[in-house]
Amino acid sequence: MAQQTQVARVLERYERWLARWPSAAALAAATPAEVLTEWVGLGYNQRALRLRAACDIVTREGWPRDSAGLRALPGVGPYTAAAVASFAFGERVAAVDTNVRRVASRLQAEPSALLPATRHGDWNQAAMELGARVCTARAPRCGACPAASWCPSRGRVVQPARSARAAPRERFEDSDRWARGRVVAALAAGEQLPSQLAGPRLERVLAGLQRDGLVERGPTGLGLPGAPR
Ligand code: SF4
Repeated sequence: MAQQTQVARVLERYERWLARWPSAAALAAATPAEVLTEWVGLGYNQRALRLRAACDIVTREGWPRDSAGLRALPGVGPYTAAAVASFAFGERVAAVDTNVRRVASRLQAEPSALLPATRHGDWNQAAMELGARVCTARAPRCGACPAASWCPSRGRVVQPARSARAAPRERFEDSDRWARGRVVAALAAGEQLPSQLAGPRLERVLAGLQRDGLVERGPTGLGLPGAPR
């Protein structure tokens, strides 16, 4: 949930989600339409369906106990698998997000080579925090850095040049991502599709949503998968 939405805004939704589906089995038993409706506004709706599919597997087969098993679940990539495996199971595996990759690069080491002999989850969390708060992309605070005494880049990070003129960016309202979110939100609320969407753009967006299993087209019209209509 927090990948597309600020944590402060996610908290209420997260608690509501857990109150409704407090276990993997409970979420696995929900319909895709129920899950998508609860997810509206959190971005990348497929993530909600993958989470439900992962819960279905966990309910039938039990929880994986290592990062390789976690990676086999729908929607779980190497970063999430490594983070969960190191935090929850103490596995010796590096969780490499953008921040950790930058810190390791400045320390001129592979992230996995930096792992200590114990407390791998604590190390991963510390490396993430270091990258987010101290060894930042534009203004690393080497004077406050606990790794400064052995960092080859200490005090030498060159600021990336800002391009003189940034390329014009597409308005979010003009993107297919915005359109896909609006269609799913409208169907979840039982409302008309947004009036801004029509013609070839709407057809393209609907085709993509159908292909991704987010929308079904039945004899009575469009709907979320598994929704009564
Ligand atoms: S000393 Fe500076 S460049 Fe090196 S890890 Fe710390 S903040 Fe980053």
